Amino acid sequence: MKGLPAKDSLNSMGTDMTDTATTRHTKLLIIGSGPAGYTAAVYASRAMLEPLLIQGIQPGGQLTITTDVENWPGDTSVMGPELMTRMETHAREMGAEIISDYISALDLSSRPFKAQSDSGVEYTADAVILATGAQAKWLGLPSEEKFKGFGVSACATCDGFFYRGKEIVVVGGGNTAVEEALFLTNFASKVTLVHRRDSLRAEKIMQERLFKNPKIEMIWNHEVEEVLGSVDDSGVEAVRLKHVETGETQDIPCSGFFVAIGHAPATELVKETLEMHNGGYVKVQPGTTKTSVPGVFAAGDLTDHVYRQAVTSAGMGCMAALDAEKFLAESE
Ligand code: FAD
Ligand code: NAP
Repeated sequence: MKGLPAKDSLNSMGTDMTDTATTRHTKLLIIGSGPAGYTAAVYASRAMLEPLLIQGIQPGGQLTITTDVENWPGDTSVMGPELMTRMETHAREMGAEIISDYISALDLSSRPFKAQSDSGVEYTADAVILATGAQAKWLGLPSEEKFKGFGVSACATCDGFFYRGKEIVVVGGGNTAVEEALFLTNFASKVTLVHRRDSLRAEKIMQERLFKNPKIEMIWNHEVEEVLGSVDDSGVEAVRLKHVETGETQDIPCSGFFVAIGHAPATELVKETLEMHNGGYVKVQPGTTKTSVPGVFAAGDLTDHVYRQAVTSAGMGCMAALDAEKFLAESE
């Protein structure tokens, strides 16, 4: 992975270079660099736990793929990537060590816990905070898979620019879908938002903006049945929609198709080892961030099936650091 400390500096930071496989011990390992991870890092640093935070493949987390964030207290409006850069700087300045790496396996069967990384370093830790967040969900259609990178996307801020003057279809009914549809009107000649019900889940203020936008057309009570086009030639040309009650189909011409149907918790590392709830979210003891394994704490979207906001994730990151601090003090 890019950005890893050079071998010499790893030595000076306490890495054990005597083993053939490099190992690195820390009191507290934080996995994930979204609002939960960075907030945990700020609090843990101030508790003198010298935390080590692994950023993963999306440094800054989900907010790095959005534009204006208008509900982060203290900022009427702030760009998502800017907010996350500020959080990273804050965590670093408090003393957290932030590492560009990805944890590929986690052994929670004994202490110290062991985290194997893509860079080859094995991190061992007395306590772990899991803050791996959530990942975009896909519809699961074979044609969606086929056209990924050829007109099918789950990130408007990343790919919207490619559709200047073109028609776009977005599917979904939550805040993400509405935000993506609005953002895409900056590029597209027309955006069609397809939702499977007759009302949106998105916040009212977002709905108001959506309905006012002359470039956006709503199609209610329809599901996407197939993405049409040619991978070799023009990419996506249309999506086929099916009415949820009548079963009638219609093709909506478009060059881009954006899937915005929510996010699933990123529990790959722990789904076999920790207790889960509500369809795959890491279960924590009520009012705490304690998971089913003592010394392992969970914060943010990977444990929260209800709120899933930056501010609640940050709040849980704070709780996780305080819970970890107490656990480590009691272990000593
Ligand atoms: P995430 O932000 O999901 O971060 C997860 C982190 O874990 C990432 O850094 C990733 O690299 C890392 N990671 C994952 N797996 C591994 C691994 N194996 N090893 C190492 N690292 C790993 N919320 C709001 O409050 N306001 C908004 O305006 C808003 N807008 C949004 C717009 C969009 C398009 C989206 C998708 C979400 C938006 N949200 C918004 C929701 C908000 O982004 C999330 O609630 C929040 O980011 C969750 O924070 P988190 O720290 O739990 O995880
Ligand atoms: P979400 O709130 O879970 O909404 C997902 C939407 O996709 C729902 O409308 C759902 O339909 C639809 N959907 C799910 N599976 C589908 C399928 N297979 N086919 C068709 N439609 C499907 O997800 P989200 O919009 O990504 O938001 C996630 C969290 O992030 C939320 O808590 C949200 O508040 C937060 N967020 C906040 C902001 C903001 O504050 N500005 C911006 C973005 C996200 P149903 O409605 O029928 O279930």
